Amino acid sequence: MHNGKEIVIIGAGIAGLAAAAKLGEAGLSVLVLEARDRIGGRIFTQKNTTSEFPIELGAEFIHGLVPEIFEPLLENGSEITEVEGQSWCVAPEGLAPCKFFPQVDAILEKMNDAAPDESFLAFLERCFPNPDHEQKLEKAKRRAIAYVSGFNAADPGLVGTHWLVRGMRAEKKVEGHRAFRSGNGYEDLLNAFRKRIARTDVRIHTKTIVERINWKPGQVEVTVHNGNSEAKSVLTTSNVLITVPLAVLKAPSGQLGAIEFVPQLPAEKIASLGKVETGEIVRVVLQFRDRFWERITPGNDSPKSLSEMSFLFSEDEFFPTWWTSMPKKLPIITGWAAFRSAEQLGRLDRSHIIKRSLETLASLVGASLKVIENQLQATYFYDWQRDPFSRGAYSYGKVGANAAQKALAAPVANTLFFAGEATDTTGSNGTVHGAIASGYRVAKEIIYARHT
Ligand SMILES: Cc1cc2nc3c(=O)[nH]c(=O)nc-3n(C[C@H](O)[C@H](O)[C@H](O)COP(=O)(O)OP(=O)(O)OC[C@H]3O[C@@H](n4cnc5c(N)ncnc54)[C@H](O)[C@@H]3O)c2cc1C
Repeated sequence: MHNGKEIVIIGAGIAGLAAAAKLGEAGLSVLVLEARDRIGGRIFTQKNTTSEFPIELGAEFIHGLVPEIFEPLLENGSEITEVEGQSWCVAPEGLAPCKFFPQVDAILEKMNDAAPDESFLAFLERCFPNPDHEQKLEKAKRRAIAYVSGFNAADPGLVGTHWLVRGMRAEKKVEGHRAFRSGNGYEDLLNAFRKRIARTDVRIHTKTIVERINWKPGQVEVTVHNGNSEAKSVLTTSNVLITVPLAVLKAPSGQLGAIEFVPQLPAEKIASLGKVETGEIVRVVLQFRDRFWERITPGNDSPKSLSEMSFLFSEDEFFPTWWTSMPKKLPIITGWAAFRSAEQLGRLDRSHIIKRSLETLASLVGASLKVIENQLQATYFYDWQRDPFSRGAYSYGKVGANAAQKALAAPVANTLFFAGEATDTTGSNGTVHGAIASGYRVAKEIIYARHT
């Protein structure tokens, strides 16, 4: 079993796996404790039932030319495809190719982290007041809000401009406006890490829920159970790495998944938890018999059909954003609801969420609901909010969060270490590459701590 010398990592999401691979490759013994019966965390690829293409329930896109993901995928021989295709927008006159990107970019570019930090909404009101309710500007502002809340899953009244600027800067470095997918989805990345880990002294225990960490410098007792909280066991070690999602770290002890620290974490760490927030996402993947939207030609001047459609943007209350698998022409389409839309949908059960998504899609592309329902082959949905081991989608920084990620990431007494997307300090919170970067960062910290 456990020999007490191993480094214990809590969570086999991509941050935990990246740290385990690096530590294992440095010759250290590692034991990873994972609550779920699978690894990957918020990376969760399913094979669809009738054909072989991947269905993503969590992360899907590789945002930019990020070495943290490209390197393991290329080493693994995975096929990487750039997202291509047309963006369509639903306007009052009907569907039309999108033209709003330059206007939204112009608004976002005005954010400045040399000015005092403020919420995105406060920034919009200050810099783009629009007293005459000029329609074009009003619309651009609505699109900018939709972008911030849709992409970052963030409350625009809470998210800080400093955090947004840091993210935009990080994106620019890696051509973050480009997006990619791996051939078998993000499962390819998990496989790449499985292979790296298999060559090292890393063991992974799934179905192992950590509920308490008793610690003092250089000594830690980790209390775990496998779903039956009556049957607990205690592991001892000198270093623990905690990679659970932010919302799990914030959850009150006693709730499933929550971790009680005895003694409590230092005040600075607890204060930093209050400066970052977890957004909500509801995504549904709809699989059809064929790509019925290829036969739809929007009823305006455009001669184009929707056959090359990659993204579809609207102001729908529930599912404003949609995308296809372009450039691959698969018969699937994904509906994306973030922030308020996700909160509203979160009150519904699965069947009502799916029904709502079908109704929205039908109305946005101007097809009859009956036709769409007849075409439907399968639906996929995963509730990240209600899962006790995620409790939401991903993190964002609120106003005043400048130093929060650093404080979240900081080791405690060279004994407790922290990683995971929320602890990324490079401006890539809420992404897979940010999570991996945090795993590599913490592996260095642990190796250094063991040699000083
Ligand atoms: C719907 C959705 C879509 C997304 N889309 C994208 C995208 O397109 N591109 C992108 O880059 N990113 C995307 N993301 C974000 C990305 O998935 C995450 O940033 C990243 O996967 C986080 O990795 P992590 O290791 O930090 O956390 P996690 O993957 O959450 O790993 C933490 C692990 O800790 C485990 N755990 C929790 N509590 C306990 C406990 N008490 N004991 C033991 N184990 C525990 C969990 O089960 C989990 O496996 C998306 C996320 C969601 C939810």
